[in-house]
Amino acid sequence: MRIAESNWMQVESYLANDDRAVIPLGSTEQHAYLSLATDSILAERVAVEAAAPLGVAVFPALTYGITPYFLAYPGTLSLRVSTYVAIVRDMLDSLAQSGFKRIVLVNGHGGNAPAGHFAIEWMADHPGVQVKLHDWWRAPRTWAKVHEIDNAASHASWMENFPWTRLAGVTPPAEAVALPERGSGAALVGMAARAYYGAGNFMGLHQRPDADMLALWEVAVAETRAVIDTDW
Ligand SMILES: [Zn+2]
Repeated sequence: MRIAESNWMQVESYLANDDRAVIPLGSTEQHAYLSLATDSILAERVAVEAAAPLGVAVFPALTYGITPYFLAYPGTLSLRVSTYVAIVRDMLDSLAQSGFKRIVLVNGHGGNAPAGHFAIEWMADHPGVQVKLHDWWRAPRTWAKVHEIDNAASHASWMENFPWTRLAGVTPPAEAVALPERGSGAALVGMAARAYYGAGNFMGLHQRPDADMLALWEVAVAETRAVIDTDW
């Protein structure tokens, strides 16, 4: 059940029979040749497809996240860690107030990890409400499928290039990206990040055949569905 296609009376009826909610967490940040909204598009879509046969409520995505390293790429917006955690707190408080008791944050962006740490602290203050943070793209079965298809995969590479994240009229280079080795220095930010990451794909091909992508998607949807449905 998509909240965007429901009214409050329908949510009230839903809560008489189910107490699960899913919130997709995304980011608006450089994804090389792909949409700046890639993380939000993927988190929301995998959540919606996973929840559909279960009838579980899926909220609209939180489409901004924590991405300070990409601020030199135009179109990237980053929330401060303190802002982000405050937003997640308000969302969880509101869900609990509505009567939701089992909440899955389907996360599409590694930088949003503080939401997971915070969720555990929040649970300790809210007995009777459970929260899971599910990093859909690096969950065990999905990550194994990525590596079965092609070991060279990372941020903004082929593994995020689906028919629903690529842009009309944009053709990425055919060559795989191999960035120079880096030691264990400080994280790169600002123009230093842009100088090192170039267009923004961290590793590997920009695109693979759709058959590979649909096979990966099938695994991701099934794995996300299991997280929503079981182990509460
Ligand atoms: Zn991404």
